[in-house]
Amino acid sequence: MTVHIGVIGTGMIGQDHIRRITDVVTGAEVVAMADLDADRARQVAAGVGARALANGHDVIDDPLVDAVVVTSWGPTHAEYVLGAIAAGKPVFCEKPLATKAEDCLRIVEAEQAFGRRLVQVGFMRRYDAGYRAMKQVIESGEIGAPLVMHCVHRNATVPETYHSDMAVQDTAVHELDIIRWLLGEDIVSAQVIKPRRTSRRFEHLQDPQLMLFETASGVRVDLEVFVNCRYGYDIQCETVGETGVVRLPDPADVWVRTASHLRTNVLQDWKPRFAAAFDLEFVEWVASVRDGTAAGPSAWDGYATAVLSDTTTEALHSGRVVSVRLKDRPAFYGG
Ligand code: NAP
Repeated sequence: MTVHIGVIGTGMIGQDHIRRITDVVTGAEVVAMADLDADRARQVAAGVGARALANGHDVIDDPLVDAVVVTSWGPTHAEYVLGAIAAGKPVFCEKPLATKAEDCLRIVEAEQAFGRRLVQVGFMRRYDAGYRAMKQVIESGEIGAPLVMHCVHRNATVPETYHSDMAVQDTAVHELDIIRWLLGEDIVSAQVIKPRRTSRRFEHLQDPQLMLFETASGVRVDLEVFVNCRYGYDIQCETVGETGVVRLPDPADVWVRTASHLRTNVLQDWKPRFAAAFDLEFVEWVASVRDGTAAGPSAWDGYATAVLSDTTTEALHSGRVVSVRLKDRPAFYGG
């Protein structure tokens, strides 16, 4: 059975996912799409033999669309995800699930009322081979109980429109999900330390930031977010357990020894770093739509991450340790 997909939002990541569904995933086809920029939607649709529709709700309601991909601007996500749930259609929503935690909660409630999981959120790091191997080691017990985790998220540079809150909401958000997933527990408090700022970028931006988290069982996590590090895109993660340490591998590249130097390359942006993860994310999502199952990041994960993101932003502004106030996880989501 071919899964017929409708895409809402044909900007940068929307086009990337349309190419992925068309060229990488078997058993799926993009049949309809819409974008605020109708010309862009028409152009992208023509490239894959799909139809450009007037708006996102037309995509959801299209009888030929089996499942929906939401890749529009963040503040529009909740409306389209709720629309897909009302239509009883599986929906893949790029992060964030919604820009407000209360909207995430409305989605969680709508999905429970529907009675079956329909929503997957685009936290693609869960499909990265390195993170998956790391989770296996942690769960096997090989390094004993996790005690401490060290994370790094560095970008070469960001545009001037980037402000301090975005270090949490747009950048650290991937770690907020992956930390919970790797450790299999929730984060209960957040704090943000502001080191000396880099002089290489804008006055308005606190960069770097050092975020500190504590999990329910007492694991301490530090995350350095440094978005103008100049040298490249660099993601690091190390979990320290009672009897060993597990570390995320760097992307595969050759080491060159020459003229008394040893060097390897550093990636310059996130796309090649997580390209394989994005591919697998869609392969598994399409398979789950076909099978009527749901295993990927859930609406609850989208809600928990939104709350955590708000908490960490509050910690950035207040300078205090801030407790995370999550609702109790319903049994529907494995609570
Ligand atoms: P983008 O290039 O700006 O694309 C968004 C597209 O959605 C634009 O074409 C925009 O049209 C359109 N749009 C806005 N409101 C709409 C609406 N109500 N109905 C239909 N289309 C609408 O942004 P992007 O970089 O692709 O990001 C899209 C989403 O993906 C964001 O939520 C972002 O956080 C997420 N994302 C996730 C990852 C990841 O690592 N998982 C990476 C990149 C992006 P206009 O340009 O005319 O406004």
